[in-house]
Amino acid sequence: MNSEHQVIKKIVKELFSLFHIEVDEEAETADFHRWDIRNEQTSRAPVHVATALVLDGAERLFHEGEGMPDERESAAVHRLIKLNLYHILRERFGFPSAPWGILHGVRPTKIVHRWIREGFGEDAIISRLQSDYACSLEKASIITPMAFRQIPFLKASGERTISVYVGIPFCLTRCLYCSFPSHILPKEGKIREFMDVLAKDIAAARQDIDRYGFEVQNIYIGGGTPTSLPDNFFAEMMKMVYNAFYSADVVEFTVEAGRPDSMSPGKIACMKAHHVTRVSVNPQTMQERTLRRIGRRHTPEAVVTMFQDLRSAGIPQINMDLILGLPGETADDVEDTMQKVLALQPDDITLHALALKRGSNLKLKLDEKEPVELPGDEETRRMSAVAMKYIREAGMQPYYLYRQGYMSGHLENVGCCREGAEGMYNIQMMEEHQTILGMGGAATTKVVDFREKRMKSSFHAKDLVTYLRDIDVYIEKRTRLLEEAYGEQGEGFSC
Ligand code: SF4
Repeated sequence: MNSEHQVIKKIVKELFSLFHIEVDEEAETADFHRWDIRNEQTSRAPVHVATALVLDGAERLFHEGEGMPDERESAAVHRLIKLNLYHILRERFGFPSAPWGILHGVRPTKIVHRWIREGFGEDAIISRLQSDYACSLEKASIITPMAFRQIPFLKASGERTISVYVGIPFCLTRCLYCSFPSHILPKEGKIREFMDVLAKDIAAARQDIDRYGFEVQNIYIGGGTPTSLPDNFFAEMMKMVYNAFYSADVVEFTVEAGRPDSMSPGKIACMKAHHVTRVSVNPQTMQERTLRRIGRRHTPEAVVTMFQDLRSAGIPQINMDLILGLPGETADDVEDTMQKVLALQPDDITLHALALKRGSNLKLKLDEKEPVELPGDEETRRMSAVAMKYIREAGMQPYYLYRQGYMSGHLENVGCCREGAEGMYNIQMMEEHQTILGMGGAATTKVVDFREKRMKSSFHAKDLVTYLRDIDVYIEKRTRLLEEAYGEQGEGFSC
C-alpha cells in the first residue's frame, strides 16, 4: 500500500471514529459488507476532488469540492476527500454534525494563526472554518477571537526565550480516568533517589540555558501532583527549581497543587516564599458522589478551604480544572459545580472533556464490560454549553484550547480566564511557539528549531525506574536537540 493509500485510510478511520462506525470483519449482522470509496482529482488549479462511496456495489453516493487558492495541492486534496466523505456520511445516515467538523488534531488554532498571518480578519476566518472544515459556528467563534487574543503573548517570546517544565510523577491515589504516567507516592528512600536524580537533571538543564544564553520566561511544576511530596521534600524541590531558574525575567511560576488532600500550610508558605505566581487547584467536580466514584478522597468543602487558604496567603492567580463527562454526571451536576466554583472567583478555569485513554482504569473497566455510567455525547455537549454560559457570565473568555483523541462528545479542553490572568505557559506550550525544557518524571522537551522552522521533541522515561537508571541518556538527548537547533552551524566538523 503506498503512502497515499495510507493517508486516505487514516482519513476514513478518523471519520468512522467521529461517527462511531464500527468495522467488524466477523459479524454476519453488519449493515453493509463492502464499502468502496473512490476519489478523483479532476483539476489541479483550483484543486477539484470528487468522492464516491459505493455501498455493497449497489448504492452510489457522491460529493465534490474545490480547494482554496492559498492551500498546498496535497493539503487541499486530503481536506476535500475528508470533507466530501463527511457530507456523504451525514446525508446518507443522518448523523448529527460534529462540533469541530473535520478539523482534527490537537491544535485547531494553528490554522487560524496561519490565516491571521496571511491577513484574514476575524469574520473571514470564522466563515472559512465553517466552509472548509465544516466546523460549527460555535467552535469557530471560540478559536478565532482566541487566536487574536494570544498574539501579544506569543510576541512576548523571542528565539532565546524559553520555559522550563519540572515533572513530579507522584500522586496520593490514582483517579479512575487517569492515563498519566503517575505513580503512587513511594516510600522515603525512593523519593530521596528521585530528588537526587532530579537535581542532576536540573543542573544539566541550567548548563544548557547558560550555554545558549536562554531567558527563562515561565516555570511550570506539574505532574502527577507535585504537592503530594511530603513537606520536607516539597521544600527541597522548590528550592532547587527556584535557585536554578528563577530571575527577574520570570513572568510566571506555576505549581499544580491538584488535590486538597496533598496540600498543607507548610507547602502554601513555601510556594509564597519562592514567588509562585499561579497555583492550579483541580477539583474536577464539586459533586461528592462523583469524587468518590472517580477515586479522589477529598470533599468539595476541602477544595473550598484549600482555595481560600491559597488566596489568603496572597498567591496572585488560582486556576481550577474541571472535567465534563464524568461517570454518573448530568448537565445539572455541571451547573451546580460551576456555581460552587465561580463563587470562589478563580482567575482561570480549564474545562476538560473526559478522554477515554488507554492505560486508565476507566478504559480497562469499559473494555471488560464492567458497568460504568458514562454520559452520552449529547449530554456532554449540554454540559459544555452550561459551563461556557457560566464562564462567560463571569466575564471570562477562552484563551487556549487543545484536543485529544477519544474525547467525550468530541469536545475539547479549553482554558478560560478573566482579562489579565492568561496563563503564559499554557499559550506558549499549546501553540508550540517556544522551546520548553523538560525535567523530571515523564517530562517532554520541545525544542523549536527556528532555522529549520520545526519542532523537535525528546521524552524522559514514563516509568520511574527507567528515568532514575538512565538519566544520563535523557540529559544527553535533550542537550543534543538543543545543539541541533541552537548550536553553531557546522560546529564539530573539521577539515
Ligand atoms: S491527580 Fe491527576 S495525575 Fe494524579 S492520578 Fe489523578 S488525574 Fe492522574
